[in-house]
Amino acid sequence: MARRFAFALLGVLFASLSGTVPARAETNPVPVVATFSILGDFVRQVGGERVQVVSLIGPDVDAHGFQPTPGDAARVASARLVVANGLGLEGWVERLAKASGGRATIVTASRGVEPIAEAGHAHGAHGPDPHAFQSVVNAKIYVGNIRDGLAAADPDGKAVYEGNAAVYLAELDRLEVEVRAAIARIPAERRRVITSHDAFGYYASAYGIRFIAPRGVSSDTDISARDVARIIRQIKAEKIPAIFLENVSDPRLMERIAKESGTRIGGKLYSDALSDARGPAATYLDLMRHNSRTLAAALVP
Ligand code: ZN
Repeated sequence: MARRFAFALLGVLFASLSGTVPARAETNPVPVVATFSILGDFVRQVGGERVQVVSLIGPDVDAHGFQPTPGDAARVASARLVVANGLGLEGWVERLAKASGGRATIVTASRGVEPIAEAGHAHGAHGPDPHAFQSVVNAKIYVGNIRDGLAAADPDGKAVYEGNAAVYLAELDRLEVEVRAAIARIPAERRRVITSHDAFGYYASAYGIRFIAPRGVSSDTDISARDVARIIRQIKAEKIPAIFLENVSDPRLMERIAKESGTRIGGKLYSDALSDARGPAATYLDLMRHNSRTLAAALVP
């Protein structure tokens, strides 16, 4: 028994001297691709130094209508895991993974979320609203799926991913309390705002603010003069207190609506992307705090 143990020990010693015991956490992080920056942040929180994450759609960039480049295919080809939102946001991701010739597993971060239908236009077929990450309760589901996906792709790191995820999930619980406290300060009759695209359906249903968006759920739809006139009538009829810009949308439409309706711009909300590292929404926690404080600052009389 003792001799067998000694042999085993010798084996480990030999292996480590000859470099065959992998010290991957330091030398060779698990390559992960996230489709957009908010998912990239979740992966970073759960993966820590064990992973190297790249977001295909970077900070302040619109996630709708994204066209992957050959560079994106190369990133996916060398990834072990691809983390996507799902709910119809990245119709291109499976094609890209297949075309890249890589072996990455795709994790759908929103799996298990209760989808809500697209708001906005009253015509045509509707898919699910993809912006589920705008509710903290849903963000926790995303984080659980990412944790499990990382553990499956890199079983040696399972304990690390579980530990990091537990810490981050507790931060998300505190964030939920903060967001609710910020919104609770706004009188119920003032919880109505205009944003450029319908990115806040989940936020609305979780926290009780009504968002009205002239563009519908995708940010790249054209808007007619008649839509603008309708929104302006609605602002006046419902006494909507403020209009908000978004980091992923051209501000000109909202500026025009604000000017023509005489309503003030309450600030900028971060919808589908983080800010850059120096901005106010460089992480998901900061994004949700920033949005909730900005709403409260503009709407609390
Ligand atoms: Zn969006």
